[in-house]
Amino acid sequence: MTKRNRPKNSQLDSNNSYVLDASAIYNGVLTHNISGVKYIPQCVLEEVRGMMRGEALIEEALLYEELQTIVPDDVILLEIKKQAKVTGDIHELSDCDLAVLAVAKSLRLKEIDVIILSDDYDIQNLATHIGLVCKGIHWKGITSIHEYFWVCPGCGNKSKTQTDSCIECGTKMKRKTHKKKIRKKKA
Ligand SMILES: [Zn+2]
Repeated sequence: MTKRNRPKNSQLDSNNSYVLDASAIYNGVLTHNISGVKYIPQCVLEEVRGMMRGEALIEEALLYEELQTIVPDDVILLEIKKQAKVTGDIHELSDCDLAVLAVAKSLRLKEIDVIILSDDYDIQNLATHIGLVCKGIHWKGITSIHEYFWVCPGCGNKSKTQTDSCIECGTKMKRKTHKKKIRKKKA
């Protein structure tokens, strides 16, 4: 296949297949109505589950017919790891990031036109190194997301889930936000 000039968000090509990572799903790629088969590595589903509203996102996602969960081929995964070591990207990539790249690579080997959709800079980076096409959902290739939590102004009790009044003292909880890296770093 030829390398396409990176199209803007609304102009994604309908004849392509896509591999989605957690950042793309979180950033609403499925609401963009992109036509074409969308592959989601199994580990990405697990990552999304761990995010704010993750379960809801997965439920929504699985309603899409053109969506397929997939597990990367071990041999190709090893190959991607080797390449990540060569480029030095290995330190920045989680196992699931590598799986995203491996799934894309295996589709590419089957001569399927595939685009990785990811806002993770490190995935974009290695994809470019190894000749895979990668596109961000957001312009700046963000790697962090806002995450909400609830805190009690009375006693300081915190909750990760939406809570109206404090379970400890009954005070009305306040919503706060902090930034969180989407990608899980390798230990
Ligand atoms: Zn309280």
